[in-house]
Amino acid sequence: MILEKNFIKKFNDDLKANVNLSNYSWFNLGGNAEYFYKAKDKNQLIEFLREIKEKKLKITTLGAGSNTLIRDKGVKGVVLKLGKSFSYTKLIKKNIIMAGGATLDRKVANFAKENSLTNLEFLSCIPGSIGGAITMNSGCYDNDISKVLISIQAIDKNKLSEIEIKKKDIKFSYRGTNLPDDLIIISAKFQGLISKKIEIEKKQTDFIKKKKLSQPSQIKTCGSTFKNISKEKKAWMLIKESGCENYKEGDATISKKHSNFFINDGNAKASDIERLIKKVKKKVFEKTGVNLELEIKIIGG
Ligand SMILES: Cc1cc2nc3c(=O)[nH]c(=O)nc-3n(C[C@H](O)[C@H](O)[C@H](O)COP(=O)(O)OP(=O)(O)OC[C@H]3O[C@@H](n4cnc5c(N)ncnc54)[C@H](O)[C@@H]3O)c2cc1C
Repeated sequence: MILEKNFIKKFNDDLKANVNLSNYSWFNLGGNAEYFYKAKDKNQLIEFLREIKEKKLKITTLGAGSNTLIRDKGVKGVVLKLGKSFSYTKLIKKNIIMAGGATLDRKVANFAKENSLTNLEFLSCIPGSIGGAITMNSGCYDNDISKVLISIQAIDKNKLSEIEIKKKDIKFSYRGTNLPDDLIIISAKFQGLISKKIEIEKKQTDFIKKKKLSQPSQIKTCGSTFKNISKEKKAWMLIKESGCENYKEGDATISKKHSNFFINDGNAKASDIERLIKKVKKKVFEKTGVNLELEIKIIGG
């Protein structure tokens, strides 16, 4: 489907055709979005969705891209990202924070610390946005988003209106939820516990140190490729046990520090990463009988 020039013009610089997406994924690779839309604010987002609904174009929402592999042939339809106005934090009660869907998780952790709220320190170790963290039920160190969430505010792509969903009405699972794909999460409310700032600071620093020791940094990766089976049976252990540590496809390699982290070690293509994924999955199944499930999301053709 080709959008008319007038339609594109109406959204100024917020809507563009043929945009390369490699800078929008932590793997730093991938093809073009047929259309790339950065929502300026809630009203513009609803207006955009209304027009796109009539044109029947597929919409793919992207957060910070720290969990998403974008295929080489790019993404048909519209890739939607929330713009700057969706990145904010505010205190709405002494122990309740509201954050925009595009806010980086670490900013929420820092804001909680500044307001002497504990239990959100784990967010300082997750390099994504609030929208992504909720979709993925992201977490670490015995905590995850479902444990601190109060509610989400979202725009339903079909109903074209804002809805609020309380945590009790969301079914969370390990790195997932039952929220439909039709929702664009524009903000969320979180609950912290009032505590001493100095103790929160220490907990946060300890988590960050622990992460640095166990996971590689400054590399092109989307973190854990596969879901863990259980606390005792981690995906990285199965990959190691199966002798896949040194597997490589083109420039797609496996981190020496954490064998569930797959890396673009130069000029890898998405197809290299996918071939590596398939090779490791097959070997782990042959060696251990475990059918590893993907944690990262793959988009595009
Ligand atoms: C170095 C590194 C370390 C990591 N460590 C951890 C960890 O400890 N624990 C952990 O759980 N994960 C970890 N991850 C994975 C990743 O950071 C999380 O899954 C993160 O929450 C993804 O957020 P994102 O905004 O980058 O999402 P994206 O990758 O952009 O998107 C992920 C999914 O969320 C959806 N989505 C994003 N924003 C919205 C929105 N506003 N509305 C609706 N849907 C949306 C997308 O459509 C997609 O399905 C790590 C990744 C890296 C690179």
